[in-house]
Amino acid sequence: MSLPIAELVPPHIRAFEAYVPSKPDPELMRAYKVDHLHRLNNNENALGPPPAAARILAGFETPRASIYPSGDCYTLRQALGERFGKDPERFLVGNGSCEVIASVIKAFCDKGDNIVTADKTFAVYEWVAEFSGFQARLIPLKDYGYDDMGMLRAMDGRTKILFVCNPNNPTGTWWDRDRMERFLRVVDGRAIVVLDEAYREYVDDERFPDGMELMERHPNVVVFRTFSKMYALAGLRVGYVCGQKEVVDYIRRTHIVYSVNILGQPAAAAALMDDAEHIPATRAMVARAKELLLPAFDELGLEHVSGAGNFVMVRTPVSDSLIYRQLMRRGVMVRTMTGFRFPNWIRVSLVQEPVMRDFLTAFRDVIALSRSDGQP
Ligand SMILES: *Cc1c(COP(=O)(O)O)cnc(C)c1O
Repeated sequence: MSLPIAELVPPHIRAFEAYVPSKPDPELMRAYKVDHLHRLNNNENALGPPPAAARILAGFETPRASIYPSGDCYTLRQALGERFGKDPERFLVGNGSCEVIASVIKAFCDKGDNIVTADKTFAVYEWVAEFSGFQARLIPLKDYGYDDMGMLRAMDGRTKILFVCNPNNPTGTWWDRDRMERFLRVVDGRAIVVLDEAYREYVDDERFPDGMELMERHPNVVVFRTFSKMYALAGLRVGYVCGQKEVVDYIRRTHIVYSVNILGQPAAAAALMDDAEHIPATRAMVARAKELLLPAFDELGLEHVSGAGNFVMVRTPVSDSLIYRQLMRRGVMVRTMTGFRFPNWIRVSLVQEPVMRDFLTAFRDVIALSRSDGQP
């Protein structure tokens, strides 16, 4: 019996192409015949979480796995409130900030509405809008950065949310205070402005506009932060949104309760409280990695882009998927960027020096190959 399932599916779902995640490391290692794999594809923090978070993880008592966690991350929100000097009710925690992206879109978009963001940025804003049936207006980057004027021109009466990834993944560009203020003044509360600050903790520059402070003067601003990047808890999936209480109260209505697990909540709270040495150590690792990689890319005559954040992009002379496969055979996993509208670029996470040296050895080899005949 054949069911006409497709007829049950709305057109925007039929048109949507599912994202295909990469295979687990052991599968990949078998496929590429390597006994180790450097993960440089997801901007993970290779230092691992701060010690206090590591202690929480090591001390987890297994019977607690049978118990539901706090449905609204009560204790973690207390910690966040304390850290940022805000009412804990102004924080909404999700299963990674990806989940709160979905909650914000559900809260504000109605049939016929649209969101505005960049064309080459974190793709989840666009994906969630589209599989939810809303138009995503994608404004081309300018000099690798978000184009504020272009975004403002794209806004109309049906624009509900402007997503600004600051600093931007994958280019590392960011708007400074003046530029952000001007943008927010022109938006003038007509739409929600999401500042995705997933890489905020990597920025050490006083010109960087702190979304946590901006939201006090611009009540339409909400800020996304995550424990996946600087805090090295990507595997536990904890991210959050902060905004004015009234705004967050609306977002909470669309948000699944109990979505953050019982181990992630205390680990995130501990990581937040124990970041005084972790943040400078991570920044130093990233800075050192850049000192190694950027001159090497220059020497190879390859165009590269980087800024804030623990990643760089480099343009490859042949197809990025070919470079990916050849690096995999050498035990190095990077991110191909063609799917992110940077054809034949790769993105590389910045980690400890020995791993960066391994990457460079493999990369030089692969680039030399591509320049001889392009085939392995
Ligand atoms: C990694 C990343 C996130 C974090 O997503 P989680 O769901 O919290 O792991 C959010 N925004 C950007 C731009 C990112 O690069």
